[in-house]
Amino acid sequence: MASRELEGKGALVTGSTQGIGLCIARGLAERGANVLLHGLGDPGVIEDIRESLAAEHGVKVYRHGANLEHVDEIDELMTFAGATLGQVDILVNNAGIQHTGRLEAFAVDTWNRMIAINLTAAFHTMRAAIPGMRAARWGRIINIASTHGLVASPTKGPYIASKHGLVGLTKAAALENADLPITCNAICPGMVRTPILDEQIDALARRESIDVEDAAARLVGANQPSGEFVRPEQVSALAMFLCSDAAREVRGACIPVDGGWTAR
Ligand code: NAD
Repeated sequence: MASRELEGKGALVTGSTQGIGLCIARGLAERGANVLLHGLGDPGVIEDIRESLAAEHGVKVYRHGANLEHVDEIDELMTFAGATLGQVDILVNNAGIQHTGRLEAFAVDTWNRMIAINLTAAFHTMRAAIPGMRAARWGRIINIASTHGLVASPTKGPYIASKHGLVGLTKAAALENADLPITCNAICPGMVRTPILDEQIDALARRESIDVEDAAARLVGANQPSGEFVRPEQVSALAMFLCSDAAREVRGACIPVDGGWTAR
């Protein structure tokens, strides 16, 4: 069982209604933090998650459904975070979308949405949360970037641009707050089997006339020397370390969890 080392801290995890974000929210609740779940999806299902997290870990859990494409909704989310958590001590910018396609064929509207959700939203949540962290003289910001924040692949230009941008923003925020115990780091996962990968796996299965599981194995094998998907729990475990006191001098790091992808 995890120690309650984050007891009483307030944590906002964007995109925590499923996937990696939900796993991180679980880890934070397990360590005693009060958590604001955020993301899109069926409100009934999200309410069940909220209730069970709160009951299981004896912490306060709230939820908000701001669409991060819209700055006014992000402002509402941050106001709600202040009113419920009291203070955003831990901010995890995790929400993200992924679409593939060659640059010249990429829909302008999809570019705009991807930059808004994957990059601009983090700028807005950080600019809202940092003054409170500085006043409290403690904070943890974790940005979920990607291997594509460090290296590129074809047909993912807008996603890569958004994640490289997030890595840059991470380093700048780390430096601006290096005078206090406020850290800002990025986690750069390789392939994690969550719904965000479905489009790519399904497209490969159709293109090669193979079944979905064979396509998934082929996709991960082509990118990760381990041949294994990264598990959400492995990303969450690193996030928990970054929240700990032991990680106090880890600042502006962009840490791959990618089965060896970026080591080649
Ligand atoms: P996911 O699709 O399972 O979850 C995405 C979350 O973001 C959901 O909670 C969704 O509601 C939220 N979201 C999406 N659009 C939103 C919007 N407009 N407004 C508010 N919330 C929105 O994906 P995941 O795999 O858990 O991805 C989480 C993060 O990890 C993303 O930033 C993604 O880019 C990154 N990542 C994922 C992988 C992977 O292979 N799964 C690899 C590297 C990085």
